[in-house]
Amino acid sequence: MTKELTINSERLWNSLQELARIGAYEDRATGLTGVNRQSLTDEDAEGRRLLIDWLRDAGLAVTVDQMGNIFGRREGSEPDLDPVYTGSHIDTVSTAGAFDGCLGVLGALEVVRSLNDRGSTTRRPIVVAAWTEEEGVRFGTDMLGSAVAAGRLSLDYAHALADAAGKTLGDELERTGFKGEHPVLLDPPHAYVECHIEQGPVLLREDTQLGVVTGGQAISWQRITLGGRAAHAGTTPTELRIDAGLAAARIVVKVREMVDSGDYGRLRATVGHIATSPGLPSVVPDRAELTVDLRNPDDGCMVAAERDLAAFLETLPESQPGLAVETRRMARTNQVPFSGEIQNLIATSAEELGYSTSHLMSGAGHDAQEIAAITPTAMIFVRGQYDGVSHNPREYSTPEDCAAGVRVLAATVEKLAS
Ligand SMILES: [Zn+2]
Repeated sequence: MTKELTINSERLWNSLQELARIGAYEDRATGLTGVNRQSLTDEDAEGRRLLIDWLRDAGLAVTVDQMGNIFGRREGSEPDLDPVYTGSHIDTVSTAGAFDGCLGVLGALEVVRSLNDRGSTTRRPIVVAAWTEEEGVRFGTDMLGSAVAAGRLSLDYAHALADAAGKTLGDELERTGFKGEHPVLLDPPHAYVECHIEQGPVLLREDTQLGVVTGGQAISWQRITLGGRAAHAGTTPTELRIDAGLAAARIVVKVREMVDSGDYGRLRATVGHIATSPGLPSVVPDRAELTVDLRNPDDGCMVAAERDLAAFLETLPESQPGLAVETRRMARTNQVPFSGEIQNLIATSAEELGYSTSHLMSGAGHDAQEIAAITPTAMIFVRGQYDGVSHNPREYSTPEDCAAGVRVLAATVEKLAS
């Protein structure tokens, strides 16, 4: 066994901070500086260019595929062998911190930089990957770039997705110069490993530094549109109203009741977007739009929850005849178990380096869940502070914990590539 790789934690930390300056904004709710670098905006394009500069400076051969996914390849001593992939995403939500996704990409870059420092060549090539539109906040489908690369969603479907202003992902790829030539369908790599912040409180509460991720839970997103009838707030008798806002409120309460019932295992349900029109104080809403995000570590419980929610939606017009209910699925993935072999490699590497670990399932969706469909995959979680808050400028992991995660990433990737 080769001597373990020494990573440069200061260089890793500085890179995280430098990338976070692109798309930085003053967050009024927290009084902190946050990051808003949504996929394929000008800010994202600037972040991508910086990343590509760093990949090239590290001697990697950079390619961009038809989804704008970015790859930096470090040649192995046996270039014909399937490479080991490692990475994550650098797009963010509108109220992000510096770590979500970026730690996995810049951590992978640090692995390569450290191999360069030591002058080591691995047997297999190593590829650093940055996937497009992981967050799904701009074009409505999360883990999009990796889902297309893994063949679950089609390129045409992805290119046709539009943001709130009607701009399509395909056009935005073109506009920002990131519609690459490289075919999007990924040749199955030898393995994929992703380092990511936990975005939850488990590691902090268990007082362990790192998480060995056992898999990802099922995710279901849908947009529900309710059609009612606009009417005068003062003169329209209650029994004559078709109030789209009332129906939306019932859905919000219903999904919470489903969670509280305990009938659907460890279901989580969130209505994160809700809007009514015309949005005036004196007019009964004629239209309401909301999104329902369901998560479940058990596929059977997820199917039951989706079925019962659909049945509930069908009953809504009973109390308000004439109400129109339309649903559109935005995203849907099953529960994904990660490779036991790579989990063992991660756990052993952490132990060798003296870090404590817990095994846990991911609450959030990650690119690794998509890539797991085509190759053995696992993830390393890095502990967060402040109850692991994320998608918030308060998101924070200490330099020591980030370095711990990347050290274990380096050891795992090196073993997989040797
Ligand atoms: Zn992420």
